[in-house]
Amino acid sequence: MVNRWLLAFFADTFRRTRSLWLTCIEHILFGQFIFTIGLGEYFRPASGRRTALASLDEILNMNKRRFFSWEQLRLGLVSGCIALLGTTVSFAATEESLTFVSGGSRITISLDPQLSQKPEEVVRWVQTAADAVTNYYHHYPVPTVLISVAPRRGQAANSGTEYEGRRIVIHLDPGATAEDLSRDWMLTHEMFHLGFPSLPRKYHYLEEGLSDYLEPLARARIGKLSERRVWQDFVDGLPQGLPKPGDGGLDGTRSWGRTYWGGCLFWLLADVDIREKTNNTRSLDDAIRAIVSAGGTGDADWSLERVISVGDGATGTNSIRRIHDWLGPKPVDPHLEELWTKLGVVRREGKVTFDETAPQAAIRRSMTAKVQASDLLRSSGP
Ligand SMILES: [Zn+2]
Repeated sequence: MVNRWLLAFFADTFRRTRSLWLTCIEHILFGQFIFTIGLGEYFRPASGRRTALASLDEILNMNKRRFFSWEQLRLGLVSGCIALLGTTVSFAATEESLTFVSGGSRITISLDPQLSQKPEEVVRWVQTAADAVTNYYHHYPVPTVLISVAPRRGQAANSGTEYEGRRIVIHLDPGATAEDLSRDWMLTHEMFHLGFPSLPRKYHYLEEGLSDYLEPLARARIGKLSERRVWQDFVDGLPQGLPKPGDGGLDGTRSWGRTYWGGCLFWLLADVDIREKTNNTRSLDDAIRAIVSAGGTGDADWSLERVISVGDGATGTNSIRRIHDWLGPKPVDPHLEELWTKLGVVRREGKVTFDETAPQAAIRRSMTAKVQASDLLRSSGP
């Protein structure tokens, strides 16, 4: 009974902390605790009080000559063995990891044993996100990544975070179905953080905005999102990125709307500008791929100047610099209605349709056109 409780305690500690060292330290402390209980029991006060744990004072002042008796040694050994067994069992109970290859990179998924989804459902979900990202960059942006998946109540997939270009932690609601996971955007968003450098805090909107902008395009390009859905979401969401009274430019913004949707609008405008200037032969894709090729992945710290010079250099334009000079320093309304008209995005009673005769309708179509580099996608299953 006590052993079962101990093992559950160790397994739970490991699950909560996900840290080997912390778990080991806790085990040692717990072993010590058991040892002390044993001592307390052994050196029960002469008064015969039926207490399991004598105070330290009582222990130290009693029967000193028996301090290193065989009995104590035996108790210490037993508690040490329990701690060791707990470590082994907690590893066996928590470690389930699966690996597959996408775009030449190793993607390892660590599955929490308390997830209610079947491992194959989780793997399919991760593979789809990896396919979208590999298809976009023409390779997966980092050589290896660990995706830790654990349960947490919320949206189907929730509370995702990317760390240092090496690791993504993301959670699944216990009720999320395979169908829900097939519609998830969050994991693709986090994976795009792997393929862009960290910038100074002032330009954080460029990191979040890029993941927000590329995620729907990349999912549309592998057929997981319709062109209509992409533009519907842009039309509905982008107004949240416009400056409100009292707002400054995008540089240094701390507001949620300006960071995520304002950043998304920045990259949409840059993409359209590059395509217009190059007769749609170059796009933001070329700029972002060049940044990754130059080492601009999630574990690298870059300056804004480096992003602009590598990005614009790859397209032979000054589009990123121009959009930054325009939206970065001061609040600007970029007139979304004019953008939609130019791209042939028409809103009728809240629903988006397309005007294929619009001057830049071809640019809009090519942004989401399915271009699947199938040979670059995953080469082996888990
Ligand atoms: Zn993000």
